[in-house]
Amino acid sequence: MGDCLIGAMTDLTTAVAAAHIRYANKRPQSAAADERARRVLPGGNTRSVLDFEPFPFRVATAVGAEVVDLDGLRYVDFCGNYTAGLLGHSPTAIRDAIVAALDSGWAVGATHEREAELAELICARFASIDQVRFTNSGTEANLMAVGTALHHTGKSSVGVFDHGYHGGVLAFGDLGGPQNPLNVPHRFVMSAFDDVAGLDALFADEDLGCVLVEAVQGSGGCRPASAEFLHEIRTRCTEHGVVMILDEVMTSRLAPGGAQERFGITPDMTTLGKYLGGGMSFGAFGGKQSIMAEFVASKGGELTQAGTFNNNVVSLAAGIATLRTQLDADRLAAVNERGDRLRLALNELAAGHPTNLRATGLGSMVCLHTDDPRHLELLFHALLDEGLSIARRGFMALSMEITDADVERLITAIGNWLDRHAQDVVSGS
Ligand code: PLP
Repeated sequence: MGDCLIGAMTDLTTAVAAAHIRYANKRPQSAAADERARRVLPGGNTRSVLDFEPFPFRVATAVGAEVVDLDGLRYVDFCGNYTAGLLGHSPTAIRDAIVAALDSGWAVGATHEREAELAELICARFASIDQVRFTNSGTEANLMAVGTALHHTGKSSVGVFDHGYHGGVLAFGDLGGPQNPLNVPHRFVMSAFDDVAGLDALFADEDLGCVLVEAVQGSGGCRPASAEFLHEIRTRCTEHGVVMILDEVMTSRLAPGGAQERFGITPDMTTLGKYLGGGMSFGAFGGKQSIMAEFVASKGGELTQAGTFNNNVVSLAAGIATLRTQLDADRLAAVNERGDRLRLALNELAAGHPTNLRATGLGSMVCLHTDDPRHLELLFHALLDEGLSIARRGFMALSMEITDADVERLITAIGNWLDRHAQDVVSGS
């Protein structure tokens, strides 16, 4: 290794340490809150993805596209709660719907009209969903979908893909280690993502009951599948009597009818979550009537779905207001086009840069990658310094409150960082 390169690498580590000190010095209130939290919450938090070095800032308020932390620092929020924040923060229409729902009573322990109302809206929107059931999270939706599919087929293997993320207990490949210790104990068969040839081995498993796949791997780094790959899975699932489950927890934002509309694919089952609950806890799984009939005893169904909060009035009211008042096709198209423009601009800007910074994704889902994680760490902190917040791992999910001016600000900040960074650190000077 040449002296210059060793110098550059040492400088990178030093630069990261300096960025952490600068960050901490500007945020005494968040530092104190972190110290307090660490005493009673392992690692100081209850959602591991939100943690970063030296400690995450604590949000005090969030309105529109902006969050403000305990130290009064303001950030344009490009993380968008990992796609759950599509509507931006605290939209009035959702707030009004929640307040109205609260006025009518909550925790009722009985059925009410909002269940069918939201189910109608979802069934009308997603072509593959004849019938749907609700859960409290996307994780739960996937667990229920997989269990339902295996029961329906009488098989026990679940086809999944490297870098696939379907919840903290359904994370595959690099995510959570080669074998995530917290994964539920199904018999998983993992294949390479977007590798059509790799499907031969997957479908050779005679006990394959379902395939669980994202059209764009979200937590796996915003990696879109090719239409060919998804269509090949569809064809083979039909041929082999395997249930195709499309995890649209993140990707349903890519078109009014979800990624399935965009890719022209009709899975047997679809799972949903995130923004469709208007920012409240939410998940849903649905699909063909013949499969969902597993929950209808009068039709020979043997399954029941428990869940105290499956029909909680707050999530359902917020979901109804979201679908009725917020998600028209023009607004969805606008946020996704803005994401496409952002990705294109960033890739043009970074082409040939020594960090090999690049942006991947589709529509409003964007993820930044660098070859050395320290580059991304430095960029992340440089953006926070400018009042621009992305997820630590480079992930962004644009909200409808993000404007073209916000996007320009981000592009300019990244451009300036690339210039500075090339001179200061990468060259080792
Ligand atoms: N499926 C996908 C594709 C996701 O990205 C996520 C969460 O990020 C989940 C499922 C799990 O959803 P939740 O966090 O609501 O349990």
